[in-house]
Amino acid sequence: MQELHDAPLAPLTTFRLGGPATRLITAGTDAEVIAAVREADDSGTPLLVIGGGSNLVIGDEGFEGTALRIATEGFSLDGTRLELAAGEVWTDAVARTVEAGLAGIECLAGIPGSAGATPIQNVGAYGQEVSSTITEVIAYDRRTRETVVIPNAECAFSYRHSRFKADPDRFVVLRVRFALEDAAGLSAPLKYAETARALGAEPGDRVPLAEARETVLKLRTGKGMVLDPEDHDTWSAGSFFTNPILRDEEFAAFRARVRERLGQEAQPPAYPAGDGHTKTSAAWLIDRAGFTKGYGTGPARISTKHTLALTNRGDATTEDLLALAREVVAGVREAFGITLVNEPVTVGVTL
Ligand SMILES: Cc1cc2nc3c(=O)[nH]c(=O)nc-3n(C[C@H](O)[C@H](O)[C@H](O)COP(=O)(O)OP(=O)(O)OC[C@H]3O[C@@H](n4cnc5c(N)ncnc54)[C@H](O)[C@@H]3O)c2cc1C
Repeated sequence: MQELHDAPLAPLTTFRLGGPATRLITAGTDAEVIAAVREADDSGTPLLVIGGGSNLVIGDEGFEGTALRIATEGFSLDGTRLELAAGEVWTDAVARTVEAGLAGIECLAGIPGSAGATPIQNVGAYGQEVSSTITEVIAYDRRTRETVVIPNAECAFSYRHSRFKADPDRFVVLRVRFALEDAAGLSAPLKYAETARALGAEPGDRVPLAEARETVLKLRTGKGMVLDPEDHDTWSAGSFFTNPILRDEEFAAFRARVRERLGQEAQPPAYPAGDGHTKTSAAWLIDRAGFTKGYGTGPARISTKHTLALTNRGDATTEDLLALAREVVAGVREAFGITLVNEPVTVGVTL
């Protein structure tokens, strides 16, 4: 266990933003994680859990309390059953499952951050979400002060959301268990048209696992969605806004507004989201509201590769980033009547 005082948090985030924490503890075992959490809770000290810092917007004032960086290690494969310690680097774990010939998370390659954070917002990309393969989450429950095993059905997973995100001060994830599939070296059936197209396949097809992973990594790299310290387009939290899910009647009103503004031929993206709901695209909304790739003149700008990523060009502050985010939210609301919601977790600041 390592302990630092008045420790800068910016280097621990992919935005490279945020002031210092009163205290920063790095925990390398589950026991150290639990001890640090208990100590903070016993003394009434605010706690901030940090994995890879790839979905965090920390205020310029920093964090008054204990920041706990989870650096536990553990990759254990038993047949098709996988258990990952929370601190494992997610994208490396995905590579190892592909090498082992197991399907189920290959399209989640390249997503930064730790395994322990994947259930928090039910990470997803290219047609896969961790909620489809997670069987159990092992967590320290700060309310009961016990370690608990939470089955998938009790995680309340939905699009970029879960019970853990809804109740952020309760659980610290220690381990995550997955059930993968042995499909004789093939991927899970492809669900995403763009991936299928890039692989010369059809949605529903299975392709060699390694090809699926490599194709996803290539597509992601082209969009600045794979971390590269040299590339400011990746100094981000990935997608800054979630895709809005509208009730069908709200969607009809939104489509009418789009046609009024952009012409009768205009067709906003629409994906069935179950139960009388339709999902549309935040990237499309942002772009059509006039915030195109590279938008901005200050130190925080929209990525030159993806409309949905807000980025730090090198010397931004969190306030610069938030000012840009607020401008985008206001512009989209004015143009289309939809209020975008931020995907990353904010600490000490709000949008
Ligand atoms: C370039 C880029 C591309 C991205 N692409 C995607 C994508 O395709 N799909 C997607 O879903 N996300 C994407 N993201 C967002 C991000 O990578 C994921 O949300 C990731 O799971 C965050 O992991 P982390 O370890 O970095 O979490 P952090 O940023 O450290 O933390 C995020 C939240 O989870 C909490 N947390 C972290 N670890 C634990 C734990 N062990 N127990 C309890 N709470 C915890 C933190 O307190 C915080 O509230 C992208 C980000 C970047 C920078």
